[in-house]
This record gives sequence, C-alpha cells and structure tokens, in this order.
Amino acid sequence: MSELHDAIIIGAGPAGLTAGIYLMRAGIETLLLEKALAGGMPVNTDRVENYPGFPEGISGRELMDRFAAHAKTFGLPIKEFSEVSGVVHDGKTFIVTTTEGEYRSLGIIITAGTEPVKMGIPGEDRLVGRGISYCATCDGMFFRNMDVAVIGGGDSAIEEGLSLAHIVRKVYVIHRRDALRAQKILRDRAFRNEKMEFLWNKRPVEIGGTDQVEYITVEDTKTGEHGRVDVSGVFVYVGYRAKTAFLGDLVDRDASGFIITDENLGSKTKGLYAAGDVRKKMLRQISTAVGDGALAAVNLERYLLEIKS
Ligand code: NAP
Repeated sequence: MSELHDAIIIGAGPAGLTAGIYLMRAGIETLLLEKALAGGMPVNTDRVENYPGFPEGISGRELMDRFAAHAKTFGLPIKEFSEVSGVVHDGKTFIVTTTEGEYRSLGIIITAGTEPVKMGIPGEDRLVGRGISYCATCDGMFFRNMDVAVIGGGDSAIEEGLSLAHIVRKVYVIHRRDALRAQKILRDRAFRNEKMEFLWNKRPVEIGGTDQVEYITVEDTKTGEHGRVDVSGVFVYVGYRAKTAFLGDLVDRDASGFIITDENLGSKTKGLYAAGDVRKKMLRQISTAVGDGALAAVNLERYLLEIKS
C-alpha cells in the first residue's frame, strides 16, 4: 500500500503553493501534485499589475516562479506532471489516483483551478492550434502584424487583447453585448487603444479556413444578420469552468462545476478543502487565491490536530 501523507494538495497555482507554504511552516507533512509544471493560470499572463508588492508589475511566469521557489525553501515536495484522475475517501483516508501512481492522505486541499470554456461552434475543434488559441501569452507571437479577434468582454478578453495589440496589426473584440464586463481600468485602456476595434452585439457562429483560420462568421444579436470578419487568429475568452470531475461525489458543485465550500473552505467531505479559482466565489484573482490557500491550510491543520488527538 502507498505511503500515507498527512496532506495532499492538488494543483500548483497560487492557491496550492500558498497552502503548501503554510502547511510546511506548520510542520505538516505535505505532498503537492501538479499535472504540468508549477505555476498555474498566471503563467499565461503577460503582466500582473494588481498583486500587491510589485508596483511596477511583474510577469505572471516570474511571479509564479517566486511562489514555487518560496514553497521549496520550506521543503515542499512538488510532483510535476502527475495528473490526478480520481479521488476517493474510504471514511478515513483519501486515495488519490494519478498518471504516476496512487497516493494516500489524511487531508486534502483541491486547488486544481479552471479550464477555458469552448464556444462550441463549427470550425473551433478543427482549427485549434491552427489559428485558434485560448492563450494569447503563449501564441500571440505567431500573429505578428496580422489581424486577430478576441472573443468575450470579460477581464481576460480585454487584458489579453491589450497584450496582443503590442504584437499584431489589429485586434477585433467580438462581444455578444454592447457593454464590457471587464473592470474599468482595462475598459478605458482598450477604448484608448487605436489597434482595438469593438464589434458589439456580435455572436461568433463559425470559424472558417482551409488549413488555418481565415475568417470568423458573426451573427448580430439584434438583427440576426450574418457578417464575415477576416482574421488570421482567434483568441477565445468566454469564461472558465472548474476542473473537478475527478472528485466524483465528494463535493457539491454549482452549474459550472465550481466547488461549494463553507466559510472555512471545507466541503461536504470532512478533511477535503477547496481553494482558489476552483471554488464557487465572487472574485477570482491571484490575491484571493493566496488568501484561500492560507485559510484552507490553517483549517486543514486544525482538522489534522482534531483527528490525531
Ligand atoms: P468572464 O468574466 O466569465 O467573462 C466571459 C466573457 O465571455 C463575458 O463577457 C461573456 O459575455 C462572454 N461569453 C460567455 N459565453 C459566451 C459565448 N458562448 N459566446 C460569446 N461570448 C461569451 O471570464 P474571464 O474574463 O475569463 O474572467 C474569469 C475570472 O478571472 C473573472 O473573475 C475575472 O475578473 C478574473 N480575471 C481577472 C483579471 C485581472 O484582475 N486582471 C484578469 C483576467 C481574469 P457576457 O458579458 O455577456 O456574459
């Protein structure tokens, strides 16, 4: 049987790495499992401007490298490229199945984050990686001096559209309403940016092209009229859904899969906590993920004390 850990954390983004720092400092034997490389969602962000302590801003990659380095100074073992496929609870221990084997623990913190929602329109699956991307920071450089579209009107679409504007010739922002959801500072910057053009009340209905994206067909949500926008790239930012399928019925979720927690970030299974973007909450930021990670860790520490005494 596999070794029994005190705590397992699933996901090495801001919440998971913070939980790791707190647990290790508290002397709790902990293992962090990560499906790819440590860092989580912020590594896809060009510039983080709203994380306190960095008045000049910092690249998402550099910030997360610092989080990981910080966790390692307290000896946190991070197993990268260990994707979790299932978690079960036998009443006493959690059994975690991964691509790399099985692990057991007394307590667990889920910080698995989210994945981008697809639009689900014709051409999307066929042209992913051929002009369609869900990560401007990763793929933007392939579109130097070309015309691209970003889909969505939230913080991600506008922030990434602004970062694309440094590279490409033109950014069409295609949004299904006539008002952006994005925060004011981003809206103001986007409206001032001469490379950004807003196509309001437009819903993408098809992405076309032979081997590469050549155009996107949009429908006017008011008139129903169809139009064609010629672009070489389409960056999709229509929201994120939580990665929680591997938890089976250990947690309650909302309609988008976000884990419903109590005020201590506990779930319906004792000893299972959720932190960061993966849980149902109002504000998803690095700073709120950090707060979650700390809170979940302290509550897990209390839980372990309780069951061990
Ligand atoms: P979001 O806030 O859920 O916005 C998704 C956008 O896509 C909305 O404008 C939505 O339109 C649109 N949309 C949804 N489904 C669509 C569809 N099928 N077709 C076309 N458009 C569709 O997602 P997000 O922008 O990725 O942000 C996620 C979270 O991360 C938010 O809490 C956000 O504040 C946070 N975030 C923060 C920062 C920052 O602070 N710098 C940066 C990035 C993300 P409607 O507006 O009409 O619903």
